[in-house]
Formats: sequence, structure tokens, C-alpha cells
Amino acid sequence: MSIRVTVWHEYRHEKKNKTVAEIYPKGMHEAIASHLRKSPDLIVKTATLDEPEHGLTDEVLQNTDVMTWWGHMAHGDVKDEIAQKVAQRVREGMGLIVLHSGHYAKVFKLLMGTNCHLKWREAAEKERIWVVNPGHPITRGLNSDCIVIDHEEMYGEHFDIPEPDELVFVSWFEGGEVFRSGCVWKRGGGRVFYFRPGHETFPSYHHADVLKVIENGIRYVAPQAGVIQYRNGSPNIKPSLEPIKAEHVVDESIHRH
Ligand code: ZN
Repeated sequence: MSIRVTVWHEYRHEKKNKTVAEIYPKGMHEAIASHLRKSPDLIVKTATLDEPEHGLTDEVLQNTDVMTWWGHMAHGDVKDEIAQKVAQRVREGMGLIVLHSGHYAKVFKLLMGTNCHLKWREAAEKERIWVVNPGHPITRGLNSDCIVIDHEEMYGEHFDIPEPDELVFVSWFEGGEVFRSGCVWKRGGGRVFYFRPGHETFPSYHHADVLKVIENGIRYVAPQAGVIQYRNGSPNIKPSLEPIKAEHVVDESIHRH
């Protein structure tokens, strides 16, 4: 079955910074999307912040099975209404992959319910991303239990997130810090995968294993066919399925919202 993917990107750094533009001449979103397009079962589109409605119209949202999200300098420019809509689509079953500095994206904070703070340092240090969950589908195709990135920005604990439902990767950095760099949560009927690498001044989205993990993540958080769907709202179910013996008078006035 095919998976409809929307690669969402802030797409500001490439327009302002020469180093970023040289690493990603067509934007980070195209580096990710062009890898994904090699798989015939992935139907890949891109959307960026400066498009009308950030490229995320209701039609796009309804026709997306999995969205990837990269943002950094302009989280505040994402309209609250759009962030709410994306979060709601996740609850309804859409998969979401939040990358790197997307830890501060409105949609991620909405779904986590925490501040998502972390420590950071840009010093081009080595990162080792350790698999701490062998057998997890997100690790499929990796040649070893450690992805090595020669130069990355450091993210360190404490990362202020809710306890992940599944912890897949933990990063070690040359400077000494560690970080929970691959985490999965279920929210409503959908799943969220946070994956850490991807600072804009390093070519991490050209790294074969990083791209492989993003692709595996897409397949993992994609909606499952034939499952019970998420119901929105809290209906009052007056008629019962079985007879209820108790005689009880309800004061309707205290149930009004
Ligand atoms: Zn960064």
C-alpha cells in the first residue's frame, strides 16, 4: 500500500545563509524528499512555511498519511490555527516525524504537553547515535548498532519531553553529553517519531543512515488499515447497551460545558 508523505520545511536558512545554501541548494526538504522518491510506494510532496497556509491546506492535510517537520528560526511564524490542525490530524491517525530543532515547533509542543527544553552547543563535534531498541522496525537496514556522524550540533539532556512510549536511539557526543535522539509516542490514533540529527550547517540529510531512519520512521508511523478510528468529542450516551437497575435522577444543569 502506498503512503502519502508531506515533507514540511521552514525553508528560511537556505535563503539567508551561504553555508546552508551550499549544503542544501534546493533546500533541506528536497534532500529528504528526493531520497524518499526513490521508493515507488511513497507518494512525496513538499510544503514550506512561506506558501499560503504554510502549504498545509485542509486538502493537503486530509491527503497526508505521514508528515515530516523541520523548523528552527521561525517557529513563531507558524499560525496557531495550522499547528492545531496538524496536531488534530495526528490524533486522527496521521503520522508525524519531527526532526532536529523541530523540538520547539508549536505542533510538537502541543502534542507533547511539555516545554521540550534541551541543552545545545554548535561545535562540529562527533555524534554516535546508538540503537537502544534492537529489533525495532525503525532500525531496519542499518549495518551496525551505531550511526556515526562526523560533525553535528550537540543536543544534551535533560530533554523535557514526556517519557517516550518507545526509545529507539540515544546519542553520545564528543563533548560528553548524551541525548534521547529517537523517541516514539502514540497520540490519539496517530504516532509521533522525534529524530534528532539535522542541524542546518552540517550535511546530515545527505547521510545514508539518517535518510534510512527517516524512511523507516515514515513506514512505522504511517496509519494502520482496518483499525478502530479516533473519535472526536465526548458524546453523552444516554441509551445504555444493557439495562441499568439503579434509579437515578440526573441534574442536567451541572453537566453543561
Ligand atoms: Zn540546530
